[in-house]
Amino acid sequence: MRKVFCFALVGLLALASCTSQKSANPKMDRFVSDLMSKMTLEEKIGQLNLPVAGAIVTGEGVSVGVEDRIAKGEVGGLFNVKGAAEIRRYQQIAVENSRLGIPLIFGMDVIHGYETVFPIPLGLACTWDMEAVEQSAHIAAVEASSDGIAWTFSPMVDLGRDPRWGRVSEGSGEDPYLNARIAEAMVYGYQGRPGQQFTSPDQIMACVKHFALYGGAEAGRDYNTVDMSHQRMFNEYMTGYKAAADAGAGSFMASFNVVDDVPASVNKWLLTDVLRKEWGWDGFVVSDYTGISECIAHGVGDYHQVAVRALNAGMDMDMVAEALLTQTKEGIEKGEVSLKTLDRACRRILEAKYKLGLFEDPYKFCREEEAAKVVYSDENRAIARRISADSYVLLRNEGKLLPLQRKGTLAVIGPLANTAANMPGTWSVAAQHSRTTTLVDGIKAVAGEGVNVLYAKGSNLCADYDLEMRSTMFGRELGRDSRTDAQLLSEALSLAQKADVVIAALGESSEMSGESSSRTDLSIPDVQKDLLKALLATGKPVVLVLFDGRPLTIQWESENVPAILNAWFGGTEAAFSIADVLFGDVNPSGKLAMSFPKNVGQIPIYYAHKNTGRPLGDDKWFIKFRSNYLDVDNDPVYPFGYGLSYTTFSYGPVTLSKDSMRAGETIVASVEVTNTGDVAGKEVVQMYIKDVFASASRPVRELKGFDKVLLQPGETKTVTFGIGIDALSFYNQDMVYAAEPGEFKVYIGGDSTTQNEASFTLL
Ligand code: BGC
Repeated sequence: MRKVFCFALVGLLALASCTSQKSANPKMDRFVSDLMSKMTLEEKIGQLNLPVAGAIVTGEGVSVGVEDRIAKGEVGGLFNVKGAAEIRRYQQIAVENSRLGIPLIFGMDVIHGYETVFPIPLGLACTWDMEAVEQSAHIAAVEASSDGIAWTFSPMVDLGRDPRWGRVSEGSGEDPYLNARIAEAMVYGYQGRPGQQFTSPDQIMACVKHFALYGGAEAGRDYNTVDMSHQRMFNEYMTGYKAAADAGAGSFMASFNVVDDVPASVNKWLLTDVLRKEWGWDGFVVSDYTGISECIAHGVGDYHQVAVRALNAGMDMDMVAEALLTQTKEGIEKGEVSLKTLDRACRRILEAKYKLGLFEDPYKFCREEEAAKVVYSDENRAIARRISADSYVLLRNEGKLLPLQRKGTLAVIGPLANTAANMPGTWSVAAQHSRTTTLVDGIKAVAGEGVNVLYAKGSNLCADYDLEMRSTMFGRELGRDSRTDAQLLSEALSLAQKADVVIAALGESSEMSGESSSRTDLSIPDVQKDLLKALLATGKPVVLVLFDGRPLTIQWESENVPAILNAWFGGTEAAFSIADVLFGDVNPSGKLAMSFPKNVGQIPIYYAHKNTGRPLGDDKWFIKFRSNYLDVDNDPVYPFGYGLSYTTFSYGPVTLSKDSMRAGETIVASVEVTNTGDVAGKEVVQMYIKDVFASASRPVRELKGFDKVLLQPGETKTVTFGIGIDALSFYNQDMVYAAEPGEFKVYIGGDSTTQNEASFTLL
């Protein structure tokens, strides 16, 4: 009740602003009203239908008779069709053969690039470089928009704190603040900055997903139940969606999971009360792939009932399930759905098409000549190479093993060393995987003539054939070797003996993360770990290049492998950019966007946890009657925000512009950061705030600002952060968003464990 009251109030205000926003475009309103006055009931319903076509596979269901349906006006958009020519062909059917010639909207999962692929989103988040994030989304839009695509199912802003869930690879990690900043940067990249959105043909519509809380899936099992307090929801999980909505994202995708026990696709509180009324957002909502019909299995109605519920809840477009297409008319006839509700959904979709300029030119995005120039262009690839190099996180570098010198013999060993298809990473559905370079070839190209580069596979991906097959679907097979584990190992060891340095390319295949790729064992797969141990036993220096779509449990590696570069999946240019970092042409600057657990039992593990009444002290890992484990301490192997560089940085004390503030004022926190090493490097300076006492238990600290600065050797820069009331506010037990007077601590440093602090009082 409390919650409803609070939202209702804000909702009224939001609704008012929402209505006034609509009349801000009277031309669009008139156009859409005029068009709708000519539409039959069936044609309006047809706009709500989003079948799948084309060769890209992203779900179980298929749509049949798509071309006939388009001609009959029973389709509003299509997705998974690739290529301007093919998209033009479908568009032509809509424009020339359907009664009103309403153009289709073409969508695709352009998640981390189109044909030029950038790092997986979790890797991109580790750049902490919002310009780079925006630029990557913009380049994705430039390429996709020339090749027929008007709409991308991105950004994915589901907060991820459980690395068992394979889809953490698609998000920005564990932190609400970083997630929100990335969400808005992505929307700007796709659609343009506010005031300039959809003004240029290379801007496409974003679709924020998966609304909401999909990342909270129990036990990290994909599609699983989600259950959380409204405080956690709005203080932590909702910030990314909200930031994307505020950035003007044109559409949202409902998630598969339940929210407060009601599946998102039929959840009126979520899709209407929060998203539209409270947040004042006015785009359209699409279901996820068969998300509406899946509500039957959730147990909330039969096919007809879930369609009616979805529409009444605020769903506008139905991806693949065809429930809205086939059930709405009956729902209207039975009085279960009002004409007004149908009109509202239809209007929202037509408005999106209008904003995208599809009524002016239905073929606006089919620019074949432009596509030939921009798709996978050298220029885009050069930018992807630069950005991907910044996404890698140097986890360990004992004895300055890295960077490597350009001399001697290098043995590149591992099942991920010589695969092109695996490099772009999950959800690179538009990429031409065969065009990607393998790590071995990338290293050869960057090393140059003076280095002798050898290669051996060393092991398969996993000992278990079936697991390897499940982990290498969609044409990303690694070419399982028929030799025995012993044969592969012995070849690798004799190669290692000839080398000065061994580079072990190990970890996950790209399809071990992403959708429907949950794992309960997060270690480097068995045979690979055996290989790594054997390589280390040769006494040769070993650099582990770790490929992964999630934090892996690498405690043993963190103690035994001298150098570890966490490379995620860096996209089409990954082979070159990994080599750029290995040889020191680029100084690594990535910092973790997700904590690396010691073992699966610690999960969920994230830095911004709350204290219990029995917290463990800083110096001990076990005390009886304290909150801890018998068998492992409470810390991760590598904390959020952590990452090494080839140089070192030192931090001066945190200084505050004053020691108290009132609402409406700002405190400026500053710190001097110095490059104390002998090469230039970029440091991600992070500011965390702790609310010391409040009416509710607050996280031990929360990220509230960051800045990535380039420092020459010996150079010092002063980095400043403004702290306003928003950085101190939270939803309290009554779901009132406010800051509470009292002491706040400010920490500034190079990762989430920094103890460099100062404090002030909110009066
Ligand atoms: C995924 C979405 C994706 C959609 C369309 C679904 O299975 O959950 O993230 O956008 O398919 O490909």
